[in-house]
Amino acid sequence: MAKEAEKLSAQIISEQIGSNNKISLVNFGCARNLVDSQIILGELTKNKNKIVDISKAEVVIINTCGFIESAKKESLDAIVELVDLKKEGKLKKIIVAGCLSERYKEVIEKEFKEVDVIVGVHKLQKDKVLKQVRLTPKHFAYLKICESCYNKCSFCAIPGIKGEFRSRSIRSIVEEVKQLDKEKVRELNIIGQDITAYGIDIYKKKSLAKLLKAILKETKNIKWIRLLYMFPTHITDDLLDIIACEDKICKYMDIPFQHISSKVLKKMNRNITKKQTMALISNIREKIPQVKLRTSFIVGFPQETNDEFEELVDFVKDQRFDKVGVFKYSHEEDTPAYKLSGQISKKVKDARFDKLMGAQLEVSKDIQEKFIGRELMILIDEPHSEDKGVYVGRSEYDAPEVDGVVYVHSTKKLKVGDLVKVRITDAYDYDLLGDLV
Ligand code: SF4
Repeated sequence: MAKEAEKLSAQIISEQIGSNNKISLVNFGCARNLVDSQIILGELTKNKNKIVDISKAEVVIINTCGFIESAKKESLDAIVELVDLKKEGKLKKIIVAGCLSERYKEVIEKEFKEVDVIVGVHKLQKDKVLKQVRLTPKHFAYLKICESCYNKCSFCAIPGIKGEFRSRSIRSIVEEVKQLDKEKVRELNIIGQDITAYGIDIYKKKSLAKLLKAILKETKNIKWIRLLYMFPTHITDDLLDIIACEDKICKYMDIPFQHISSKVLKKMNRNITKKQTMALISNIREKIPQVKLRTSFIVGFPQETNDEFEELVDFVKDQRFDKVGVFKYSHEEDTPAYKLSGQISKKVKDARFDKLMGAQLEVSKDIQEKFIGRELMILIDEPHSEDKGVYVGRSEYDAPEVDGVVYVHSTKKLKVGDLVKVRITDAYDYDLLGDLV
């Protein structure tokens, strides 16, 4: 019998709700949380619990997100809605799981007496391959290889929520990849908080390149392997080499840089300077000339001067990233930056957010234009909801759910999961349009 401390949140929920329930799950936050939701459903369906639409459910599990203000509010609003449903007798049980309950268990207990079970985050298992009910469309999947983070960025609550950094063993990951390949998955999205730290805990060295070699041996139906959430200082040359030479690994790298001013990076505890960041980017582009870079930045970090912000705007204009996410600094208690003086006003944060997004929009328009006339392999995600003969897909340069899409004109009937050649005929701010070749 597993030690209580190590009992999985999914197991605790299963014991609490028993069997033969009509259940539904609401997932919030990132792809990592989605994988935890898949594991919760995997565990509960072992017990003859039937997954139904929320309108027919007796038991609802809400897997919350709790890392920044806006995300916390979204999860709290959903709990309030479920509590109202229960008060109206439309629900028997409410289960709250995930990052918000890991961080604010006592508050939820006190504020929401109608909540039956409160569990924290799922503890990543090193060797066990857990049953999952996949919540992504069948043709793509998220593969979580590690959890939490060593980096301790001063604005980030995640290490405090997720605990110590954990990697799964190569054996357990390869076993899951074999399963996903059998299920005819086409696109494998590899995730963690920092996948470039993979293996430091269990193999005592960065082992993502080694893991990719093992995964590549098991991919017959899987055509694309995408790497998400990389940390700048953990990117190694052997990782760049395997990305460069393996066709199945998307020439797409997601590396949140967060800022470029060395002073701000220091206060963010990012362990990298402007000079080192620039050197890394040119090394990546030299080794993988066709690589597309996704990154994200925080505006309005405490004490960020207008000059430091303008330095970031110039950086974005000069470096011409393919995809950029911009976040306003979120004042998170129990993070080191919380205590910093010089907190930036909402008005200034909003203005900086708009200016940086505006700068990136001009870059994106220009980059998109350059695709016109090119032929790309497109993974079909779905038929267009309105236009007949039009399909919505993505190239290897578009991650699911966060990046743009490619609209494909085709007189031939296409299926979800088809990988087809398309000639790009037009470009929008973030999306492309093309004809089946
Ligand atoms: S690398 Fe990401 S998850 Fe880790 S502390 Fe920094 S922001 Fe948080």
